[in-house]
Order: sequence, then structure tokens, then C-alpha cells
Amino acid sequence: MIISIESASCGHPSRAPSTPVLSSILKMFSNLFGLETAGLEAALTALGEPPYRARQLYQWLYKKRVRGLDAMTNLGKDLRAKLAESWEVRWPEMAERHLSYDGTVKYLFRLDDGATIESVYIPEETRRTICISTQAGCPLKCGFCLTGISGYKRNLKPWEILGQVATVMEDAPRREMGWNIVVMGMGEPLLNYDATVASLRVLMDHDGFAVTPKKLTLSTVGILPALEKLMAEPVRPNLAISLHAPNAALRRELMPIEDKYPLEDVIAAAQRYPIPRGGLVTYEYVLLKGTNDAPAHARELVRLLKGSPCKVNLIPLNPAPEIPFQAPSTASVNTFAQILADAHVTVSVRRPRGQDILAACGQLHLKGRPRPSAAAPPAL
Ligand code: SAH
Repeated sequence: MIISIESASCGHPSRAPSTPVLSSILKMFSNLFGLETAGLEAALTALGEPPYRARQLYQWLYKKRVRGLDAMTNLGKDLRAKLAESWEVRWPEMAERHLSYDGTVKYLFRLDDGATIESVYIPEETRRTICISTQAGCPLKCGFCLTGISGYKRNLKPWEILGQVATVMEDAPRREMGWNIVVMGMGEPLLNYDATVASLRVLMDHDGFAVTPKKLTLSTVGILPALEKLMAEPVRPNLAISLHAPNAALRRELMPIEDKYPLEDVIAAAQRYPIPRGGLVTYEYVLLKGTNDAPAHARELVRLLKGSPCKVNLIPLNPAPEIPFQAPSTASVNTFAQILADAHVTVSVRRPRGQDILAACGQLHLKGRPRPSAAAPPAL
């Protein structure tokens, strides 16, 4: 059992407990899960162990994904015992699991501070996808997204991001099929840059989760300074940009972030982004009935993207009672898609998955109201 000192002591979180008994009950363990090679090396060196063991540890954590030190048989008993004095291997606690009629599974994780986050497993005939969260809630407040409407709590740590993937992979049925990962769950990944990029490195590392960069997609509204930084990373995922409107005025109505990072600048940056294996950037466009789904909007979108090699992914709104927009008609989705296709813009329509369990895009949200103690939103 692990009791955090903060919750067990009254007002003196940093003071060491005074009796040996208390001290052993209140022992704090640090989590190895979430550390990269440098962090693991530091942990080993502090115990007087050679740093080359870090790679073995790394493989146990992220390639074999064992849940405890005991399973790490090639480390030797003594080293495991030494590590176990101050370190543990811990994934976030899966608190709920909901299965949709279409096979989609939504996982709810309860984090140490009570924050809840969600991840989604989406099986298809030829591929399977995990959608992960990078923040508890989201500060962006896009008008059609339940996550934004429900509020923002905090950034996730690498162990909380990677733990979602590890849990879903462990829970999913064994199939001879690679994984796709989409960073499209709760939160804006580029507002949690360091933890997100650290997690992506482990996901794409051959000694880690070994997901190929082509099968990993990060979705963002286009936080420009962070997008520039991501372009310079040695390994990068695919990029999807949340566009949702063909002009700045309409985008501003739907997405307050437009004021800070205007769509023309976001598109210009996205077009410079080096997609893995020469692929194309994707623009996501949520279709909202009577707001941005008219043929005129489609034609305007064609003009906006003309000359920019890209794909457009149309997402019919996944509705929820709290979302003040309605889903588009099938006819308007088809007409919209046809106008793009006729103009030689590559277009796809995203099928909603797991709507009955609120697992579809934009339906993930914090449980209950964010508490007043919630952190202030990060500077955008
Ligand atoms: N913050 C990131 C990633 C999370 S959202 C981003 O905005 O890209 C992933 C995608 O789902 C985004 O394109 C988002 O706009 C879309 N989305 C949000 N709410 C939706 C809803 N109610 N129905 C359909 N798609 C939605």
C-alpha cells in the first residue's frame, strides 16, 4: 500500500514522519514507468549500479510491458531487491471500462489526484486504433467539444500518457495486427509538449512500444511555437490539424484559439511539417448542421487549401446534450465531400465509433465539475 505523505499528514507535506513505524507506512516510491533511458540510468547510478542496465529495464517497461520488478528476470535478484526499496512500476488505475455495441471500448482512468481521463480502443477489420489523452480536460473551449465544455484540470505526465497505451494493449484481444495510435483524446497535446513528446519517443522507439511513426498521429489546433519545435524533433508522428472552418471569422466563432493562432498561419506551418515517409498532412473538419456544412463552405475550403498537398477528414459532429450544435444530415455530408473530391482534394469521412458510450471524438470529458482547486489553464 502506498500512502502519499500529503494526504496523510496535516499541513506539513515535506516534513519527514517522526517515528520509524510511521516512516515505513508512509514510504514513498518513485515510479520507473514513464522514465526514459537517461532517467533510468540516473536511478541505477544512484544505487551504485552500472548504467548499461538501463536498456534492459527500458525493454521490460515498454517493450515487454511487465507490471512489476519481479518479472524482470534478467536483472538479477539483488538488483531487483535494491530497486524495490525505493522504486515501483505503476500504471494509472483503470477505474471503468465500457464496451460499445460496435466493439469500441472506452477506458476511464482515475489518477492519483482524483482527476479522470479517458482512452478509447477502436477495433476495425484491418486495423485497430488507440486514442489517448494528454491532458485532464482541455483549456481550449472549442464550442462543439464536450472535453472543452467540461473544463480543464492539468497536464498529464509521461507515465499517465504511456500507461493508457499499455493498459489498452494489455486488455485488447490478441490479434496479428499492428497498432495505430491517435493523440486525439482529451486535451491539446501541444500545450503539454514535453510530456507528450517524451511519450511519443517511447511509443516510437524500437526497444519501446515500437509503433511506426506512420501509424501514430498527433492532432492539434496548431499551437504554432510548439508545432515549429515538433518539426525539428528527430522522430515525428503524422500530423492532423483541427481546422473546422474555411475562414478566420467562422473559425473564431467555433474555436477561441483562432485569435492567437490564425488559420492561415497554421496552414502555412502545417504544410512545412515533414510527415513520416512523405505522407500528407490531414485537416480535420467537424461538420456542424447549419453552421459550417453548406456547399459554399466546401467551396471556400477548396479555395483555402488549393495548392496545398493534404487530405481532409470530415467528422460529422458527435452530439451530446451539452453541445450546442447538431449533427449534419447525411445528404449534406455527402455533398460536402463530393465538392472536395470534384476539386481533387483527397477527402474521407470519419465514421463515428462508440457513440453509445460517449467514446466518439469530442465526447470524452472530465467526470463531474472541475474542482475550484483546479490549476489555472496554461498560457496558450
Ligand atoms: N486538441 C486536439 C486533439 C483532441 S480532439 C485537437 O483539437 O485537434 C480530436 C478531434 O476531435 C479534433 O479534430 C476535434 O476538433 C474533434 N472533435 C471535438 N469535438 C467533437 C465532436 N463533438 N464531434 C466530432 N469531433 C469532435
